Amino acid sequence: MTSLAQQRTNRTENISTGQSSPLDTRYSRQILFRGIGEAGQRKLAAARVALVGCGATGSALAGLLARAGVGKLRIIDRDYVEPSNLQRQALFDEADAAESLPKAIAAARKIATFNSQILAEPKVEDLIPSNVEGLLEGMDLILDGTDNFETRYLINDYAVEKSLPWIYSAAVGSYAVTLNVLPGQTACLACIFPDSPSGIVETCETSGILNSAVNLVASIAATEALKLLVAGATAPALRRTLLSFDVWTNEHAEISATQPRPACRACGVRDFIHLAGEGRPHITLCGRNSVQIHERQRPIDFAEMDRRLQPHGTVRHNDFVLKFWHEPYELTLFPDGRAIIKGTTDTAVARSLYARFVGS
Ligand SMILES: [Zn+2]
Repeated sequence: MTSLAQQRTNRTENISTGQSSPLDTRYSRQILFRGIGEAGQRKLAAARVALVGCGATGSALAGLLARAGVGKLRIIDRDYVEPSNLQRQALFDEADAAESLPKAIAAARKIATFNSQILAEPKVEDLIPSNVEGLLEGMDLILDGTDNFETRYLINDYAVEKSLPWIYSAAVGSYAVTLNVLPGQTACLACIFPDSPSGIVETCETSGILNSAVNLVASIAATEALKLLVAGATAPALRRTLLSFDVWTNEHAEISATQPRPACRACGVRDFIHLAGEGRPHITLCGRNSVQIHERQRPIDFAEMDRRLQPHGTVRHNDFVLKFWHEPYELTLFPDGRAIIKGTTDTAVARSLYARFVGS
């Protein structure tokens, strides 16, 4: 992916040889906008943004920022594309779903088709305490495209500890909510939600989601990201509130986030329990009847695994995922040994299937 994107970049640069500016007309309308300008566009080109989760909100954020010319987008996602994603996950198409492509790979491929001048770096991984440093290090900004508070608290702990800005974004049903976390200036996620707000987390499976709520929250968060990358984390134009908007009822609210809570576990006491926490051995994914297992980190030989599983059900694989159907379960295996088992929310059942078919 990277090398292909790089080749395309080189080709584009060769074509534009002779121009004094490395910026072509691609960004002309954005440069005309007073808040960005030529200097702002150069800052965007030099910016490094990590996007954690590339589902609906993540797709919309990645699409907006890639088109806006953010120079490096690291796209971290643990999941693969399915037909039910296509209603709202704007970077994916039917071919991606048919191939069960990992979302990070599919997103980077799609981005390369509309902006080959930036680097979209796919990471097919679940962000956990043991890899958070490696995946988020060296970034200027972290964006939230996740679907769970466990990962958000991990991002929050990392960002607060490193004094790195991040933007919380969530959408469920017709409801969208977002917060800029500017360490040292504003409240952090743990100031506002010391514990997971169970209402938001639990309705995601039952309330469905409107694609317009997703696009609204992504538009607001992407614009805040542009302000931050162009004018810095102290820019007055940055919003310092928790903003919520229901696109169905039109109810909206803003809660001031200018005051960090002194007793906050993360930014007050600086007790980073999520950063120090142990990796999660298995997780029930949101919105699906499935369990993720990543207890065993080891490379899987897909060709060999395919042969081994043939007598037990239907198997197919590509370079990125192996899928195995053993009624009523569907097992999706990644090259690093991580698996998503669909058809159960019982971690014991999932673990036993994994041990039986993949190895313990
Ligand atoms: Zn805090």
